[in-house]
Amino acid sequence: MTTAADEIIHLCWSDYVGVTRCRAVPAHQYAARRERGLGWAVAGQALTPFDDIADNPWGPMLEVRQTPAPETEVRLDLWPGVPPFHIVLCESNTADGQGWECCGRRFLRDALDRLRAETGLGFAAAFEHEFLLTGPGAPRETPFSLAAMREAAGVAGMIARALTEAGVEPETVEPEYGRGQYEVSTAPAAGLMAADRAVLTREVIREAARRAGLCASFTPKPAPGAVGAGAHVHFSLLDDAGRNAAYDAAAPAGASAVAAAFCAGVLRHLPGLCALFAPSPVSYFRLGPHHWSCGYAAFGVQNREAALRICPSPHADPERRRAGYNIELRVPDGTANPYIALGALIRAGLEGVRAGLPLPPALDRDPADLTGAERERLGIRPLPGSLAEAIALMEADATVAGFLPPVMRQSWIAVKRKEIGMMEGLDDDTVCARYREAY
Ligand code: GLU
Ligand code: MG
Repeated sequence: MTTAADEIIHLCWSDYVGVTRCRAVPAHQYAARRERGLGWAVAGQALTPFDDIADNPWGPMLEVRQTPAPETEVRLDLWPGVPPFHIVLCESNTADGQGWECCGRRFLRDALDRLRAETGLGFAAAFEHEFLLTGPGAPRETPFSLAAMREAAGVAGMIARALTEAGVEPETVEPEYGRGQYEVSTAPAAGLMAADRAVLTREVIREAARRAGLCASFTPKPAPGAVGAGAHVHFSLLDDAGRNAAYDAAAPAGASAVAAAFCAGVLRHLPGLCALFAPSPVSYFRLGPHHWSCGYAAFGVQNREAALRICPSPHADPERRRAGYNIELRVPDGTANPYIALGALIRAGLEGVRAGLPLPPALDRDPADLTGAERERLGIRPLPGSLAEAIALMEADATVAGFLPPVMRQSWIAVKRKEIGMMEGLDDDTVCARYREAY
């Protein structure tokens, strides 16, 4: 039995490496903490996903206030004998109440503000979460089968219920292509809530799996030969009335002029953006052709080998057709900080809108099946093959590098280089195992 005195509220945030960190207070203390949050040593932003921390510019004294965003509070009291799962996401503010320049949530807030100021548009997105269930008795049935679903019926039901009660609007809970791999998608959310919802969804899935005696891992590649796991982002643009401004029934691929230019901006900068979307050494075990994870900066309609895939709505009714239309970015994985990934996506899209970039024709095949000369003629570039290469491409693209404030850029790259160094000399199995455990 639990009592009110057992209850703890977790003040959480997603850090550079996409790990949800937390500080925690007894729930009855929360009212006193709500406004100013809790202090957190800034150097913590340099934590790797492992038991080590990168050199950083902050030293032992500097603190930020992890300040709750009240709209993100979730309280689930579903499991007898376990105190409620009570969590609120935070944004990092400096001591004087200003936004901290290295906070991922603030980075996304700033990107959303820029998009709104320059185009008058809002942004909505939904993540598709692919994950592996591990642990004693973890499901191993045939991919996509009813058997795989029923073998996991208990935990899947717990996940569905917990996500529903958490208010993240789950749309599907289903088996995927890997043994023990499942997928959850949620309804899109506008603005900051799109990334908040991604963090909440993952943490609620983890908690439900934990209560079922299992572990949910969102690693991009559980083992070198295993099926990869993505965190694809489906996005659209919103006008003042909240209608989908990415859609134009009469335009090629259904992409409105602003959406076409937005996508063209993302495509142009995609090689330099990969480090922010697929930010771990293990991410590059997943990215690549023939796995539907995408290996090229290509664009297509319904093309699952294209990094940007137009997803038309199946509805005949014009309003529902408009509402359902979205664009999928297939590069991101579960090691990316959702706020930084969405912020970078918006910033790159905005560059395309500013420059009025034209969108190339939609590619109707696997870009890997083209010859090198054909790809070159079509301007289709390969995505980087390692995190080190991705970081070099990011640094070489002054526009993308400039999205991050200088301190954020330098410290983020230092953490990622530390992570690369920690994996050096380890065989592929060990690298995959370490990320499987960390994520
Ligand atoms: N698992 C694939 C990936 O790594 C995606 C499969 C799908 O299209 O759902 O991105
Ligand atoms: Mg999938």
